[in-house]
Amino acid sequence: MEIHRLCIIGIGLIGGSVALAARAQGVCREVVAADRDAAALARAEALGVVDRGYLEVAEAAEGADAVVIAVPVGKMAAVFAALKPVWSPAAFYTDVGSTKASVVQAAEQVLGEVPANFVPAHPIAGRELSGVEAALPDLFAGKRVILTPLPHTDVRVLERVRAFWLELGAEVHDMSVSHHDHVLAATSHLPHVISYCLTHLLGRRDEKDEIFQYAAGGFKDFSRIAGSDPVMWADICLANRDEILPLLRRFEAELSAFDALLADGDRQAIHDYFAEARAARQRFLDRYSGET
Ligand code: NAP
Repeated sequence: MEIHRLCIIGIGLIGGSVALAARAQGVCREVVAADRDAAALARAEALGVVDRGYLEVAEAAEGADAVVIAVPVGKMAAVFAALKPVWSPAAFYTDVGSTKASVVQAAEQVLGEVPANFVPAHPIAGRELSGVEAALPDLFAGKRVILTPLPHTDVRVLERVRAFWLELGAEVHDMSVSHHDHVLAATSHLPHVISYCLTHLLGRRDEKDEIFQYAAGGFKDFSRIAGSDPVMWADICLANRDEILPLLRRFEAELSAFDALLADGDRQAIHDYFAEARAARQRFLDRYSGET
């Protein structure tokens, strides 16, 4: 694939990693970026992540043959509005947002309908860090990218977007928008909410200094994802709350069930509960990640 000008909108962790990966793989001749943060653009230029940065989305996107939107999901509508006057039928457009129905709705609301040359996408790759300094050229290597094309998505554009992510080293899967949001609510959004809640609970206690002072590896592991960007996660939770809320109800029921086991003092039942969870985790790791 040869892209003349790749335009990244939102040059943070994910946008910066797309730029670095595209450069490293020789996928494009030049990379430009738009960001509302002038300092982020200056850093991206200084680090050699992009050739040029622009504060105006339309200015950066005009003349680009590939546009990747990498802003928090709550900012997608503003970006579509800025792109509207310069939307080109010759280019392909994709995004990296962690929720898909909200992105599709934003495109519909702003552009009237989702353009056939926009392919919603979500790389299942990331870190707890934000900003262009945290970007990595191999962030997507061996990681899954989910494409959620719509029935009227142009098949040739879909294949170009697929080829783009494959060249960045990703494994590409297709899913419907609603299935994506349903699956990700369980595998990513609920765990982040639980991690934030537990960290919040411990952090609010009077003896918090002592708790954190004696926190062992378990707490560090469990709270790792609560180190993620609150702007991004507030957007994700609001965008996918219809899927997350029923899962929270189920998690509350799960906690109540364990509460009852513990209150009963039934050692065997507690042991079996943990053993089942451990076996489920191991099955998951054996099947999908090869980790132990
Ligand atoms: P990030 O590091 O905070 O980068 C986002 C960048 O977009 C920031 O520089 C931000 O500027 C800029 N921005 C915000 N609104 C804008 C607008 N209206 N116009 C132009 N630029 C704007 O965030 P990220 O972690 O890369 O996440 C970007 C997207 O990737 C999100 O949709 C997220 O859901 C998705 N994603 C993230 C991960 C992950 O692990 N982080 C994984 C997969 C997908 P300010 O700093 O001034 O706001």
